[in-house]
Amino acid sequence: MRLANVAIPAPVHNAFTYRVPEEVTIQPGSRAIVPFRNRRMVGLCLEVADSPPQGMELKNLKSIEEVLDHKAALSPSLLRLLKWMADYYVTPIGEVCRAALPARMSRTDAPKTVRPHTPVEIKPITEMEFDLNEDQQRILASMIDAGRRKVFTPFLIHGITGSGKTEIYLRLFAWLAEQGRQGLLLVPEIALTPQLTGRAAARFGERVAVYHSGLTDAQRHRQWLKMRDGEVDVVIGTRSALFAPLEKLGAIVVDEEHDGSYKQDESFTYNARDAAVMRAQIEGILAILGSATPSIESLVNARGGKYAYHHLPSRTGGASLPPVKIIDMRRAGRKDLNQKTQKTRVEELCALSPELYHALEERLERGEQSLLFIGRRGFASSVHCEGCGEVFACPNCDISLSAHLPKGKRPSEDALGPALPGGVLICHYCDYRIPVPSSCPACHCHLLTPLGQGTERLEAEIQDLFPQARVARLDSDMVTSPAKRQGIFDRMQDGKIDILVGTQMVTKGHDFPSVTLVGVVNADTLLHLPDFRSAERTFQLITQVAGRAGRKSLPGQVLIQTYQPSHYSLLAARDHDTDSFARQEIEHRRQLSYPPFVRLANIRLSSNSEKGVADAARQAATILAKTREREGLAGQIAVLGPAPSPLHRLRGRYRWQLLIKAPTPRVLSKFLALIRLPLQETMPRRVRLSIDVDPINML
Ligand code: ADP
Ligand code: ZN
Repeated sequence: MRLANVAIPAPVHNAFTYRVPEEVTIQPGSRAIVPFRNRRMVGLCLEVADSPPQGMELKNLKSIEEVLDHKAALSPSLLRLLKWMADYYVTPIGEVCRAALPARMSRTDAPKTVRPHTPVEIKPITEMEFDLNEDQQRILASMIDAGRRKVFTPFLIHGITGSGKTEIYLRLFAWLAEQGRQGLLLVPEIALTPQLTGRAAARFGERVAVYHSGLTDAQRHRQWLKMRDGEVDVVIGTRSALFAPLEKLGAIVVDEEHDGSYKQDESFTYNARDAAVMRAQIEGILAILGSATPSIESLVNARGGKYAYHHLPSRTGGASLPPVKIIDMRRAGRKDLNQKTQKTRVEELCALSPELYHALEERLERGEQSLLFIGRRGFASSVHCEGCGEVFACPNCDISLSAHLPKGKRPSEDALGPALPGGVLICHYCDYRIPVPSSCPACHCHLLTPLGQGTERLEAEIQDLFPQARVARLDSDMVTSPAKRQGIFDRMQDGKIDILVGTQMVTKGHDFPSVTLVGVVNADTLLHLPDFRSAERTFQLITQVAGRAGRKSLPGQVLIQTYQPSHYSLLAARDHDTDSFARQEIEHRRQLSYPPFVRLANIRLSSNSEKGVADAARQAATILAKTREREGLAGQIAVLGPAPSPLHRLRGRYRWQLLIKAPTPRVLSKFLALIRLPLQETMPRRVRLSIDVDPINML
């Protein structure tokens, strides 16, 4: 009698065994409809056995109802990857399998045949032909060399934007295609890469697939089938394209490998960059991580000789990086400007130092463009009452409400008044919204003051200071669709904007070739997040934003405003010195026992009962401590907490966490495997438990 081990897309940890009827053919990697808890579900066959293991109870065994794939949906190597991910990320195998397949393929009622649908169109962008420069040739040659040997070879390509990394990837893919092999390119966000997909389409034509969440379910399914049927040479996609069903894969490239969006933050919290390296290892192929600002983890791997490291220090066109200057805001002498805007109060101090002000003025006179970066959207980060000191806070989250201008209103002088008439208070975590009240609900005082700077306020202020300038804003409130984003980029391109104010968004995707001034309005907001990666993020962000200036013949300039002018991440960013930054940051991480010198897992607990979750967190701590002692792991595993999470309340739920530190991934996995079941069994019903391995978001 044949048996099949089937993963079920449900929150149950293990796979289930089913009987395979005589007449049915099934192989690992195929989907099958199986009865499960009085329902019919689409499961994924992991293994098939010809005879039951000794002593197995067969009486109650149910049978597979129907096999859906006669050609396996997932290859043996992909199955191995999924099993590794289930173990490593302590996630039920069924959930991992569900993440790996298009949504349609896990539905029992999904149409069997793919109906006509809107095809995914990619506009080819043809470029002038050129030869690779020496650096590019050398790197491509060593990739091809490793590709010939067909063994797992990881690369780290550290090269500033425009240094020609993508060109190397595309030529590697062309070489692979000649060998009948395929290339997979992961990117953080596809909306930002029309140029990339266009360049690929110009070379590979129909044999390019894109795979990302912007596609409809039907489109995703169609792209998936195209990949599985071997009709592509190149796949470009976001996080979930990691699971692309490519049987002749030759290389996986992870572009902007440092980007946090490779980490899925909810439910199945995997990191697609790390899993991509694992997939390459399983398949015995090339893994290529590329970035202008590589993560500390990858730099440590490169230094330790695990990754072949290549540096592309200059732009292909010969343009150089702009000089960066740090402005000490502690003595920036902003009085004059405050008189100009007739502001006297401290919280209304002008956001610009005289130096940045004059630099903007100069650009306007010369008809050149400027870019101002600020870390926060909205008008102000909070509103407080002058009468009683009350700050408006979100009723669901442990956070102050941000003030936003009324929709569609052009920021102007009157919007800068204390009460923000017509404005909205918004929670940036749960989107709770209320109109800005005209008086304080607690003391009825009318003096409500917006505190802190956001994009809207900066835009208003710039417009006040430079009435003749054409000012525009780029943040997620403005950019509600890819078309709107494109619109702003086009206006920049056509020289219809003088000063662009924006959030992180300006650091990604398009270049602004004629921008000659980049200002970072407040570097401190980045440095002060309660997260061990805040220095790394600051360095990366400033480096990326600086790289947006002076791409063409016009020389650029970067000004960074800060109250901490001697912070090592700012100094290193000023000097374009990744080595110096990495050296100091790595030393910090080593001394404080942070990744990559230890491995972390964050055990998160949440509940709508404040006491319930606190009690559960203490219970969890007891389980961790006991397991640690019993298994003799006390010398290796450290547990920090339990403690309330930095965001103690989020969307109405109270949150606690325990941070586990282990010396190696192996020890961490072992410990997590030991505690998972006892934890799940002890948690009260109302407490939600999640285990985040290698957490990125520490809040
Ligand atoms: P990156 O991926 O590092 O940002 P790209 O590969 O996109 O760099 O290259 C930036 C631009 O320079 C592209 O328009 C590309 O076509 C061009 N380019 C790349 N390599 C060369 C080269 N060797 N000679 C001339 N132009 C090049
Ligand atoms: Zn909220």
